[in-house]
Amino acid sequence: MTAGSRSITLSFPRAGVALLSFDLPGKSANVLSTEVVVELESHLHALRTMCDLHGVILTSGKPGTFIAGADIREFVGLMDQPGEQVAELCRRGHLLLGQLSDLSAVTVAAIDGVCLGGGLELALACDRRLVTTGPKTQLGLPEVKLGLIPGWGGCVRLPRLIGPAAAVEMITTGQPVSAATAVQSGLASEAVASECLLAAAIDLVEREATSKAYLADRARLRQGVLMNQTELDFLQFTTSAKLAAEAEHQPAAMTALNLIVATAHDDLTTALTAETLAFGHLFGSPASRALVHVFFLQDYNKHTQASATAVARPAQSVSVLGAGIMGIGIAAAALRAGLQVRLGDADESRLPGASAESVQEAAFDPAIKKVDPERAIALAARISTVTTDAELAASDVLIEAIIENYEIKVSVLQKLESLVPPHAILASNTSSIPISRLGSALARPDRFCGMHFFNPVKRMKLVEVIRGTQTSDETINTAIALARKLGKMPVVVTDGPGFLVNRMLSPYLNESIELLHDGHSPREIDAAAVAYGMPLGPLALYDLVGLDTAFYAGRTMYEAFPDRVRASPILPALIKRKRLGRKNNAGFFAYREGVAEPQDDPAAAEILAGYVRSENRLPLAQIQDRLLLVMLFEACRILEEGRVRDARDIDLGVIFGLGFPAFRGGILHWAQSLGGDQIMRKIEPWRERGARYEPPQLLLDWAAGKRTLTA
Ligand code: NAD
Repeated sequence: MTAGSRSITLSFPRAGVALLSFDLPGKSANVLSTEVVVELESHLHALRTMCDLHGVILTSGKPGTFIAGADIREFVGLMDQPGEQVAELCRRGHLLLGQLSDLSAVTVAAIDGVCLGGGLELALACDRRLVTTGPKTQLGLPEVKLGLIPGWGGCVRLPRLIGPAAAVEMITTGQPVSAATAVQSGLASEAVASECLLAAAIDLVEREATSKAYLADRARLRQGVLMNQTELDFLQFTTSAKLAAEAEHQPAAMTALNLIVATAHDDLTTALTAETLAFGHLFGSPASRALVHVFFLQDYNKHTQASATAVARPAQSVSVLGAGIMGIGIAAAALRAGLQVRLGDADESRLPGASAESVQEAAFDPAIKKVDPERAIALAARISTVTTDAELAASDVLIEAIIENYEIKVSVLQKLESLVPPHAILASNTSSIPISRLGSALARPDRFCGMHFFNPVKRMKLVEVIRGTQTSDETINTAIALARKLGKMPVVVTDGPGFLVNRMLSPYLNESIELLHDGHSPREIDAAAVAYGMPLGPLALYDLVGLDTAFYAGRTMYEAFPDRVRASPILPALIKRKRLGRKNNAGFFAYREGVAEPQDDPAAAEILAGYVRSENRLPLAQIQDRLLLVMLFEACRILEEGRVRDARDIDLGVIFGLGFPAFRGGILHWAQSLGGDQIMRKIEPWRERGARYEPPQLLLDWAAGKRTLTA
């Protein structure tokens, strides 16, 4: 018998065994929208009235996806609604899942693939969970990544099922677990091959219907966790210490921890009510709105392409020329993505070490925090070091990552382009040389573009795909496809000084030097940036990049925008005294071997004191304003000039290329969330400082309510 419905099908594969199969029409993944919830309510209502029911199985009609979570687009619509509506959303979920867990028959979630957020909360309300063994099966509660906590019972049921410590780990990190870990922790009872899932679920229903073992577990889970108060206090103490640093800006994880501990011994209803209250405090908060914005940015980025018509040629092999810092990182990413890699360098003696380093990086397993030796052996077979141009030119994509010198890059690219196969594309990882200038020296500039990776490649997700004046859409699409295959986020940028990220970074760094001239110490300036949420301050960043390298990059920006980049004697003065940054342990700060933290350095302070123009010391908030406003202006100019096609590329660029805090949503989201009046008030005190504080027209139009910044 089959009763049809739009998203959930109810069938009876065996007498007394009901099967609810989720399969949202036209969607690649199942999500819990209001429509789906209403359907589930009506199915549960029907099942409650059946007297000969042995059990109910919840599964998915989409292989590889159980339920990916709530319908985020739908619940975002609630963010501006009164809090009562949010509470109602939680209560409705609790009621629904309560009805499921109170059914008179055993309930089994049969999970193949992704089971996240509301999907896992649904599964947690079942008596048993069966999972499939494939790598696609992942169970998680990722709500903290949206600045939220699970609001449909996840904070209550998970600790009771797998213990508070494991639940705190899963909920506060938002990281999903594999099928094997799920079984180990007790989250799932068994892992089976996907083709056996349904049969195993039916078998489990029949066994449980006879043994009634699930009833004892139901009763136990209603009572609370098995940990005593002292152990709970210890868990809270140790985890709070880990979460404290981020809690000021992103309170979700700390809220989840406190909630789990506080409700650990409560009855189910009291605990669920507390969860609703805590969820309501976070929902619609600035951090949550920003993180939801970032979620949608990433979703948008999955569809980036130069044009819908141009074909992307999928690369099977990549050649990397230049076995230095960047070349090693790019080769490792390509290896990890399953590509054939050829690595070349003018200095052949570097190749064996560089190739080994790429393999080690690619074979690193974050789960065990070690290199997986078997994987390393397999990967080593896919990388070859090459010493002739012909060998290097044999790949589908060739990425040049050699010394930053125009003449040398051109001569190398010219040689290689005559040897590469007709379908291949060439890309340069240059950080400052115009792509159009390099392209114009080539016979086929249409198949040449920039692929600007960020350092360290293994951590930085952004890749700027830079379009020169003659680059074809096909080349751009091929570079985008490759970047995606490497697990990166490609953002297409039209060629121009500093491309996207460095152009926005430049005024921010430049302003930090101006703040030194105003009498602030490096420590004060960096503390303001870090308090805003930057991973490190601008002066520590200067030290990391190297003051000499930063000076040359700054000069390029000065030449491009002389009216607003301020030339300061500070960098040359430090370089002259051999203060080059981290590389020689002396820059704006001093560095000690084995100590990560930059140290205040009286020698640097003495040099800087000679360049204080006027004592104009500002409170922390105004230091932040000065650093951020100039970055915001540059973002608006990039948009005005059409260097990116979509404002969302700007926020993606700053977050994933520059480390801008995700809980601020990016520089444009930050401004948009403050509003035009407040931004204009922030600008006012600095307007007499000249061109760099002259707001671009686009910003003025936004402040006047004529347009938005983020769409
Ligand atoms: P690196 O000095 O670590 O490595 C450069 C490598 O290129 C060296 O191994 C060198 O032997 C080799 N090389 C030099 N001339 C060559 C030639 N003619 N033919 C073949 N090999 C040659 O440099 P890096 O930091 O890896 O930078 C490489 C490129 O990436 C540069 O264009 C740089 O601007 C860009 N980039 C660097 C960073 C960064 O933070 N390091 C970030 C983004 C982009």
